[in-house]
Amino acid sequence: MARGKVYLVGAGPGDPELMTVKAKHLLTEADVVLFDRLLDPRMLEGAKGELIDVGKSAGSHKLSQEGINRLLIEKAEEGKVVVRLKGGDPYLFGRGGEEALALRERGIPVEVVPGVTSAVAAPELAGIPVTHRGIVSSFTVVTGHEEPGKDSPLDWGAVAKLGGTLVVLMGVSRLEKNVDQLISGGRPPETPAAIVEKGGWGNQRLVTGTLGDIAEKARRAKVEPPAILVVGDVVSLSEQLAAKRIAILRPEAQQEESAALAEAYGFRPVSSPAIALVERPLPADLMQRIESTECMAFTSANGVEMAMKIEGVRSALEKKMIVSIGPKTEAALARCGLGSEKPEEYSSKGLERMLKGKCKRILFLRSAQGSQYLSECLRKAGIEVDDIPLYEVVLSRNALLDDLIRHPKEIDIFAFTSSSTARSLLERAQELDLEDSLRSALEGATVAVIGRPTAAELERLGVRVDVMPETFTFEAMLRALRRLS
Ligand code: SAH
Repeated sequence: MARGKVYLVGAGPGDPELMTVKAKHLLTEADVVLFDRLLDPRMLEGAKGELIDVGKSAGSHKLSQEGINRLLIEKAEEGKVVVRLKGGDPYLFGRGGEEALALRERGIPVEVVPGVTSAVAAPELAGIPVTHRGIVSSFTVVTGHEEPGKDSPLDWGAVAKLGGTLVVLMGVSRLEKNVDQLISGGRPPETPAAIVEKGGWGNQRLVTGTLGDIAEKARRAKVEPPAILVVGDVVSLSEQLAAKRIAILRPEAQQEESAALAEAYGFRPVSSPAIALVERPLPADLMQRIESTECMAFTSANGVEMAMKIEGVRSALEKKMIVSIGPKTEAALARCGLGSEKPEEYSSKGLERMLKGKCKRILFLRSAQGSQYLSECLRKAGIEVDDIPLYEVVLSRNALLDDLIRHPKEIDIFAFTSSSTARSLLERAQELDLEDSLRSALEGATVAVIGRPTAAELERLGVRVDVMPETFTFEAMLRALRRLS
């Protein structure tokens, strides 16, 4: 009979980027992949074989451990190359050892591929090293969810006396009980403790406290599995080592893309849309004004999208010089099949230099609150400026924004992508009667702006600006921020 082979492969804590090269490689070679429910779909990218989810627990499909073992044996005995993908490391509380033994008993070749274990990675990604020179030189990993009636139950009293960092996996449901046992075993209630929920995922959370209050804090924060409890003095290091939380104040439609970018630069995005976009009624003489200008300028992708919805605009544009400010604006025009010219530098100075001698009259199709600074600079340079507002930027009153204003100290970096984000944030804080606490948080945090008009607006509002990139894009702002942190 043809014999296949089974690879027991660790998938890491949940971020597809933290999979090993070998894991990725084996996925492309496997005839069958058996995986667990919690895996991010991106982890399976590149897999060409049959995909079997053995962890669908909600409802009828969850396979028992024996069922999984049987399926592995069945597929291998059909001669298939099987990848059994498991969260974290396959052997650490992963029942990978049992699967390996069951296969070996049938004489089926098995190979284990270690993975990045959440026991170390989840605390680490939240800024907690499990050992640290001068603080602690050992760590212990235990399970917080033992099956009742197990032969050798965990001796919590002994664990409490061990000293060193304690990492408890599978501990959410019995958190309170486990913590009580540690305290009654002699660990002082004031020992720092933390829960890391969904370490390495987009929505990773950290709840910190002490052994005495962590269970209560976790309950209030509604912590859900997968999560890890870490106990010990190293928890305090998270204040300095955790990835910086950056408030993204852009409108809802841009949140997802901006958050992904912020993560790629090593920040933890906090979605807090400060503004929303509302379409404006169009002037009756819109088409005449377009006709009488030589050059049309767009300053945002939103402006381009809204303009293209207006009948006649797309074709009128074909005969004009089109100027795009910002790479996103340029890309939005390109999507409509329109080429555009861009200033060498995304600023009023750059635009001025570009238009000199080429065009006497420019028409902006943009937000009602578009920067007057830009128009003024151009007028001073002798260019006639017309401005048609397509949409209005209004205060969002989004619940996420209110959350941020209620807990502004949780933010390390405020990222202002326009003057209106700055005005709206402060205006909403005033409405909620929380302006003072917001201002004091802004003083303690890093304030970044995308460009000069935004910097000028913050200055007017009495807020100090720390970071402005050389090129005025969101990504350049993140790059500048990363250099600082
Ligand atoms: N073999 C896995 C652990 C399996 S036990 C590993 O090496 O990581 C499952 C437990 O692991 C969960 O209950 C939780 O305590 C922890 N866990 C797994 N992934 C996690 C993550 N991304 N963040 C926090 N805890 C996680």
